[in-house]
Amino acid sequence: FDMFILAFVERIFRPTFRKDDFVLGKKLGEGAFGVVYRVSLAKNPSDKKEGDLVLKKATEYGAVEIWMNERVRRACANSCADFIYGFLENSSKKGDGEYWLIWKFEGEATLADLMQSKEFPYNVERMILGEGQQLPKGLERENRIIQTIMRQLLFALDSLHSTGIVHRDIKPQNVIFSEGSRTFKIIDLGAAADLRVGINYIPKEFLLDPRYAAPEQYIMSTQTPSAPSAPVATALSPVLWQMNLPDRFDIYSAGLIFLQMAFPAMRTDSGLIQFNRQLKRCDYDLVAWRKTVESRASSDLRKGFELLDLDEGIGWELLTSMVRYKARQRTSAKAALAHPYFNREGLLALSLVQ
Ligand code: ADP
Ligand code: MG
Repeated sequence: FDMFILAFVERIFRPTFRKDDFVLGKKLGEGAFGVVYRVSLAKNPSDKKEGDLVLKKATEYGAVEIWMNERVRRACANSCADFIYGFLENSSKKGDGEYWLIWKFEGEATLADLMQSKEFPYNVERMILGEGQQLPKGLERENRIIQTIMRQLLFALDSLHSTGIVHRDIKPQNVIFSEGSRTFKIIDLGAAADLRVGINYIPKEFLLDPRYAAPEQYIMSTQTPSAPSAPVATALSPVLWQMNLPDRFDIYSAGLIFLQMAFPAMRTDSGLIQFNRQLKRCDYDLVAWRKTVESRASSDLRKGFELLDLDEGIGWELLTSMVRYKARQRTSAKAALAHPYFNREGLLALSLVQ
């Protein structure tokens, strides 16, 4: 009941927007289900011409995405991009209208953009620490930077999962570097599922990105009945959550991101697709995969193994606990954060010592 009062009070005091309030800027992305622009408010013409907001014009899945963003904003605000407002825009005559979603513009670069650079991961270090604080280059330092990124990503995932939300589309393109907080945040809740209230409970396999999807492909076993109405689902779903461990789907994807950060060759699409093919041939056994490639490994691959083998191989240990065939054998985000891989000081602590 308190939630209702809260939502009601919020409705009165939060600013509301409509179509004419926005001036469209550069297009940032275009997918099958929507177009994303950088925008500014029309009543702020003195604004930097770039605009400090982001608009997504979404098709039918926009309604779910608004719902997810509202929920995240209340329950775990810092893990995702700052959501401002969402509404159905049907003033134009075409069709059923579109859902408009507005966020704060968090920054220029996604983790995908940053990983494409030859400078990765040092470009990330510069963004987190600012100029002029870099340490001597080397594997040790790269590992610290990658560890810091993984910690931030798992932290955001843990708060999403604790809220009862599975993202289902975790990939570098959906991880944005927030220039304000100097941390990585998750974006794009368009494929997310909230199992506690049964929103988007039935998996839409076609929403999933095959490059990053765990082998189970969809989250609930097909035997699980479709979502009951909200109050029943709230009572039942913690049990379902325990049984099916749907959060482990995101953990697999996050493990693939870890892998891409360690192995430069896997940062390209073709590199990742080739890895996926090899892993499948090894029945998703990462240790078996390592055996097949290590003997004839290129220097690029060897460097990745060397990085993961630092400190008695705790990085490799963490990776193998995330990328596993069976969801129930994968670690959770919370358990991963407590893994010894994260015992070492990260970037920020390191810069304070300098
Ligand atoms: P899509 O459904 O097209 O994948 P996304 O929500 O992932 O939509 O947004 C597309 C792109 O727009 C992102 O990859 C990112 O580059 C940019 N973007 C989205 N939200 C933000 C934000 N809050 N701040 C800055 N850039 C953003
Ligand atoms: Mg996206």
